[in-house]
Amino acid sequence: MAKTFRNLIGGSWTEPRNGAYFENRNPADSTDLIGRFPDSGAAEIEAAVKSARRGFEIWRRTPAPARGDVLRRVGDLLVARKEKIADAMTREMGKVLAETRGDVQEGIDTAYYAATEGRRLFGHVVPSELRQKWAMTYRRPIGIAGLITPFNFPLAIPTWKMFPALLCGNAVIIKPSEDVPHTTHLLVEILLEAGLPPEVVQLVHGRGETVGKALVEHPGVPVISFTGSTDTGALIGETCGRMHKRLSLEMGGKNAMIVMDDADLDLALEGVLWGAFGTTGQRCTATSRLIVHRKVHDRFVARVAEAAERLRLGDGREDKTDVGPLIHESARRKVEEYVGIGQEEGAELVTGGKRPGGERLGSGFFYKPTVFAGVKPGSRLEQEEIFGPVLSVVRVNSFDEAVRVNNDVRYGLSSSIYTRSADRAFLAMQELDNGITYVNAPTIGAEAHLPFGGVKATGNGHREGGWEVYEFYSETKVCYVDYSGRLQRAQIDNYD
Ligand code: NAD
Repeated sequence: MAKTFRNLIGGSWTEPRNGAYFENRNPADSTDLIGRFPDSGAAEIEAAVKSARRGFEIWRRTPAPARGDVLRRVGDLLVARKEKIADAMTREMGKVLAETRGDVQEGIDTAYYAATEGRRLFGHVVPSELRQKWAMTYRRPIGIAGLITPFNFPLAIPTWKMFPALLCGNAVIIKPSEDVPHTTHLLVEILLEAGLPPEVVQLVHGRGETVGKALVEHPGVPVISFTGSTDTGALIGETCGRMHKRLSLEMGGKNAMIVMDDADLDLALEGVLWGAFGTTGQRCTATSRLIVHRKVHDRFVARVAEAAERLRLGDGREDKTDVGPLIHESARRKVEEYVGIGQEEGAELVTGGKRPGGERLGSGFFYKPTVFAGVKPGSRLEQEEIFGPVLSVVRVNSFDEAVRVNNDVRYGLSSSIYTRSADRAFLAMQELDNGITYVNAPTIGAEAHLPFGGVKATGNGHREGGWEVYEFYSETKVCYVDYSGRLQRAQIDNYD
């Protein structure tokens, strides 16, 4: 019998007041029930905020280096449980074990980075314009941070948000994706074991439209960090704007890899397969468009199609599997819908475009790696986020045209260029309108100690990761200390 999980509220594992639960199933085999998780409501958010307020009062006064020590222990426990968490993650999310191990490693890197940040968290001491006066800034926590996460990086994304928020001295309430609740449960267990005071973290499971919405709308939660689709981010943005909340949005992408006529085609081939079909195309940074120079177009596309056909679909926990399932049936239907749209728009279906046959994969949400050629810039296939194993190839005549095609979409997360010309590589870094550009590497591969995020409809100007995220989770306080013993008027006494 599958296990029934609970929320973490008020320092203990609690049942939802409405008594409702939802099921978490393995997308590679929908007969495999992982567990039942609370289908919580607004009452749980209310209780979580009350508890987090108490947690915040303890935690904000804990010295930042001591907060960092807790996160170092979290990193150690993640190292010890890497294999167990990766296995649980593949079971509920579907991507192959090599990738879920990488997902845990990103959490480990984020923990150790946060631990050391506890001994930095720098402010500034600035010369005052007045005599015998000091001017300085320091960083203080804000309060309760509400964190809402998507399904595709079940451990890494919760850690990107929780660890810096905690290091800065905030209490957190996390609402993980209802598609992958188990991984966040395992992470929160580790936080408690590492010595985080229990009321500093609250875990509330449930659906976005109910419990996610209640978290965003709660007046006691001044900071919201959301990663997910652009449509959901827009809804959250409206609420946060109205309520004057601090908000970080990380949303959709339609990332392109450019292959120039002087590219190392063997390298580009490996890159595009990993970028387009890794995580079954369900990465925000997935390579969804391949922009190829006409001089190498035909032979390169033929090689991509042939290699895509050889990728083996299957359960991500089996050694031979290259590509796992989609997250659920509606994600697979969305892919099918876009394959239909591509055909109606006149693009050429080169390979894939259907579900795999046979019994072996019959109870999972699998779809064949799909390549379209002759995709027109501006078409829906070329413009809209599909979030599945579909690669759209656009043929171009020049570098300038490639840059134009890359930039002419509403999203702006990552881009990539394969070329042997240093001049072109630098020009690409300057001209490609994205938050991240890779040279001679695919559109994916963010490292935990660098800022991560996109421009245009992908984000709202904030970054996760690296040093920048610590600014998002803390408030700058300015302090002036006058030790002159007399009234000194800024802008007046020193300039009259
Ligand atoms: P989603 O928008 O469906 O859900 C994300 C989270 O938001 C879930 O926890 C969900 O329950 C919650 N939610 C849904 N409706 C809500 C509401 N009205 N109020 C509050 N919360 C609500 O996204 P998904 O399908 O889980 O993830 C895929 C999307 O995430 C893709 O668009 C992908 O590009 C994006 N993504 C972006 C990044 C990035 O860093 N830019 C990273 C990963 C994923």
